[in-house]
Amino acid sequence: MPRSHLSIDLSVINQIQIYCQKQFPDPAYGILAGTTHHITHFFPIANLNPSYCSFEFEPREYLETIKKLRTLNLDWIGMIHSHPFNEAYPTLRDLNQWCYGEKSCWIISLRKKEIHLCAYYIQLNQQVTSIIYEIL
Ligand SMILES: [Zn+2]
Repeated sequence: MPRSHLSIDLSVINQIQIYCQKQFPDPAYGILAGTTHHITHFFPIANLNPSYCSFEFEPREYLETIKKLRTLNLDWIGMIHSHPFNEAYPTLRDLNQWCYGEKSCWIISLRKKEIHLCAYYIQLNQQVTSIIYEIL
């Protein structure tokens, strides 16, 4: 059962923001990890396809990150990517490409000066459910 409530460290949000703003105007991607429902780590992952909203990761970097999660004994909690010009809601393309099951889908919108970070579950039938998260 997916968890309807997650928490995330403020320092992780700051790392995400800095990284995504550095990649701007390209979208940025990464993995969020921690312990059961609490996110403590952000691992950026380079994308092979600079086009908008495509989960085509650089394979070596992707595998290295998965290995790192195991070594550090971290749970893989979610995927994050940025929407440089759009709102923080999954696009049709996001839904079609989602292959991470019950992991949470985090989107950070850089459209406005103040960042907007939202988290969702994407079900097999592409139904999108908002996740309430707490910043710690
Ligand atoms: Zn997207």
